[in-house]
Amino acid sequence: MAQNDDNLLKKIAGHAKEYGFIFQSSEIYDGLAAAYDYGQNGVELKNNIKQYWWKAMVQMNENIVGIDASIFMHPTTWKASGHVDAFNDPMIDNKDSKKRYRADVLVEEYIAKIEAKIDKEVEKAQNRFGDAFDKAQFLATNPNVLRNQEKIDEINARLAKGLDTGDLADVKALIEELGIADPVSGSKNWTDVRQFNLMFSTELGSVADGASKIYLRPETAQGIFVNFLNVQKSGRMKVPFGIAQIGKAFRNEIIARQFIFRMREFEQMEMQFFVKPGEELAYYEQWKERRMKWHQTLGLGAEKYRFHDHLNLAHYANAAADIQFDFPMGFKELEGIHSRTDFDLKAHEEHSGKKLQFFDTVENESFVPYVVETSVGLDRMFLSVLSAAYTEEILEDGSERTVLKIPAPLAPYQVAVLPLLKKDESGLPQKAREILAELQYDFNCQYDEKDAIGKRYRRQDAIGTPYCVTIDHQTLEDNTVTIRDRDDLSQIRVSIDELKGKLKETTSMESLLRRL
Ligand code: ATP
Repeated sequence: MAQNDDNLLKKIAGHAKEYGFIFQSSEIYDGLAAAYDYGQNGVELKNNIKQYWWKAMVQMNENIVGIDASIFMHPTTWKASGHVDAFNDPMIDNKDSKKRYRADVLVEEYIAKIEAKIDKEVEKAQNRFGDAFDKAQFLATNPNVLRNQEKIDEINARLAKGLDTGDLADVKALIEELGIADPVSGSKNWTDVRQFNLMFSTELGSVADGASKIYLRPETAQGIFVNFLNVQKSGRMKVPFGIAQIGKAFRNEIIARQFIFRMREFEQMEMQFFVKPGEELAYYEQWKERRMKWHQTLGLGAEKYRFHDHLNLAHYANAAADIQFDFPMGFKELEGIHSRTDFDLKAHEEHSGKKLQFFDTVENESFVPYVVETSVGLDRMFLSVLSAAYTEEILEDGSERTVLKIPAPLAPYQVAVLPLLKKDESGLPQKAREILAELQYDFNCQYDEKDAIGKRYRRQDAIGTPYCVTIDHQTLEDNTVTIRDRDDLSQIRVSIDELKGKLKETTSMESLLRRL
């Protein structure tokens, strides 16, 4: 998509609202920041994404099972996981604009600008040298690139040191030295950097009874770790095996802009893969590849995804990478793949006093497994699909249409059943409803008989329905219907007997999963 700006994101949000995909939460009260509701079409798309993930991750893997843990957990869980003490973001305010930012994000955006300079140099050289161009060699030898890369490394190292050692004064000094200005107002008048814990807390029980503070989970992973032994024993699972979960997570994000990219209540699809210590990095590489394949199989364009390896590792990780997606606001994290070592299980052993180990009957020994995690935000997945699908087109006859080219198996509706005429006397609505009743077993269908056929096609385009089945007079004579294709607008005539099979070829979840 050529447009790469805020404007496009606004258009997508506007379209999502107008066509029942996403509404601002409690809109009649002017909304609640960073909370969104999925509408009648949004919930279908979201459920289909979940199904694609659950089938691929759980049901089609012999050694992965799913759970659904509660959102509330014993408060010690979050002490053990490190979230009470360390789940903080460094924030900074601009005194003039009164806007609040994440200090690390300001620095990262500065780095992204230097990276863009390097990309430009590469592009220039590529144009100059053509086929003879050796990118790796260019990156390793070009003085401008090297100078910029050195600058990036220095800034990264200093930021990491400041955050790791809690030297927030130096993070502020770095922002000032780099001359970073408020992106909105251009002002460089900054407050000190402060840590801000992202967990929402509430109270369990009434205050009079001696209430205790509990948290809304900031990630689903801990529900998996505390159930490690329950699942392993009851399912007789053998390492390596995985536990997967889809569920809500809550973070009191400092800045929550960019539509559903950063919300305070969101959903995660996570899988923790338990392996023998020492084997984690091989599985980490394997899961990176498998997850990338899962994304790319959707066909939104391979160039829209890239890996971003982490240099600054979280306290629990020995390797980490993001799969980034080219959102309307540029490449951003869609999924995280983390080699989490034995940090979580060990911490829960210490805090609970219970052994969380696997007994290897071959080696005759117990060990705490290492963990490789894959964690993708369901809402970010939704935004990736929606933003890649959103297309404005001018057709051959000069008319315009907005079409959502959603991968067919994920579309809210796979089929729209449209009688050419609405009048009962024509016999067409009755016939159309007969066909609808038959298709409903296999597809999510819409029935629409209102307005001219062209208008109805446009309505289906706008919600991404891949096929419209039209019932006309010929249908009554020879039992054939037309199938109109959302993307290339072609129309073919098929007999009703073949209709189901034909539609399934490209719209079934199976057709998508078989491409994995
Ligand atoms: P970010 O750096 O963008 O804050 P993160 O690294 O904190 O994300 P993880 O803790 O790795 O994110 O969470 C795993 C996934 O959950 C992310 O890749 C993202 O898709 C999703 N996610 C995290 N925070 C949010 C949020 N506030 N709103 C929507 N999705 C989120």
